[in-house]
Amino acid sequence: MGDLESESGSELAGFSTRAIHAGQDPDPATGAVVTPISLSTTFAQDGVGNHRGYEYSRSGNPTRTAMETQIASLEQARFGMSFASGLAAEDNILRLLRPGQRVLLGNDAYGGTFRLISGVWAPLGIEWSAVDLTDVDALRDGWPDDTAMVWLETPTNPLLTCVDIEAIADVARERGALLVVDNTFATPYLQRPITLGADIVVHSSTKYLGGHSDVVGGFVAVDDASLSERISFTQNAAGAVPAPFDCYLVLRGVKTLAVRMDRHCRNARAIVDLLVAHPAVDRVLYPQLPDHPGHAAAAKQMSDFGGMVSFTLAAGREAAMRVADTTSVFTLAESLGAVESLIEHPAAMTHASAAGSPLEVPDDLIRLSVGIEDSSDLVDDLGAALERA
Ligand code: PLP
Repeated sequence: MGDLESESGSELAGFSTRAIHAGQDPDPATGAVVTPISLSTTFAQDGVGNHRGYEYSRSGNPTRTAMETQIASLEQARFGMSFASGLAAEDNILRLLRPGQRVLLGNDAYGGTFRLISGVWAPLGIEWSAVDLTDVDALRDGWPDDTAMVWLETPTNPLLTCVDIEAIADVARERGALLVVDNTFATPYLQRPITLGADIVVHSSTKYLGGHSDVVGGFVAVDDASLSERISFTQNAAGAVPAPFDCYLVLRGVKTLAVRMDRHCRNARAIVDLLVAHPAVDRVLYPQLPDHPGHAAAAKQMSDFGGMVSFTLAAGREAAMRVADTTSVFTLAESLGAVESLIEHPAAMTHASAAGSPLEVPDDLIRLSVGIEDSSDLVDDLGAALERA
């Protein structure tokens, strides 16, 4: 079934058909419908230097190829490369830069991305600045000459700000810089950055792609062959590849991405309705709300608004801590994007590494990853916790 293109080569099969079949033809040797987990680290060669596509599992592995083909197809990109974690994927992208070149990072982003750029790559000579990507004119006007890469999340972690991928891609292209989009929160089901002009899409597949809080992984999708060659080179040369079992878990998770995302979005709306009407809540951050920063961008480029919801408490930090400590269906834990609902306090947990930086997050903020449980149980649980705010 290959890439599931029509004979004309232009029309793709539907999203879920590709999620379930792209890269996943039945095993030719046995007819197994489920992609086998290929644990072999090495592969027999028919003659010296004459192999059947695989030599050594760091360089390539059949289970990994299936998953890379599947997710690249969903991102509508020609090439996909997977990594041992989202940050390993990000690290491989940053290796495209040379000392003296600058990366512009959106000033609202995952704390680990900030830590990787400022703590690992800046000491090696990579320049960086945090910028407000919601203002495209300001981006163009204030553009530093040494910029070689723009790095954006949309929606962002944890404020769920949305920025216009197409408009930023235009500026980046005009100035000769690469645009990297972290598509972890939206997933390819809701948003496909390559089709909007991004050069590189990156994922923490630990989140919605895996979808069950049981695998850590990262993914990079590109449409350009030379970029693919450069990133594949470091994927093999630096070797931060995922294990075959982890590839299998992501492959299996992605098969149900569409149905899970529909339910995440629906449950998130029920939670937003509760929060908007609750007197203990100060601000509700959800891209569907008309007053949300970037609502217009989200409505333009996303097919729905996602399963992440953030909010601030009118009574401040202590109230936020109490709510996070009190829920029972929402589990107090880091991470996001899986079937179970999670609640966290970003300033003290996921974004602690951004304290004191331009990416610091408010300490009265709560972030929810709304799962796929029954929405009435989620609403009751959070409603009861808010009574203690
Ligand atoms: N990008 C985003 C938006 C994230 O939320 C995370 C992790 O939370 C990462 C990247 C890093 O991914 P990983 O934890 O798989 O290394």
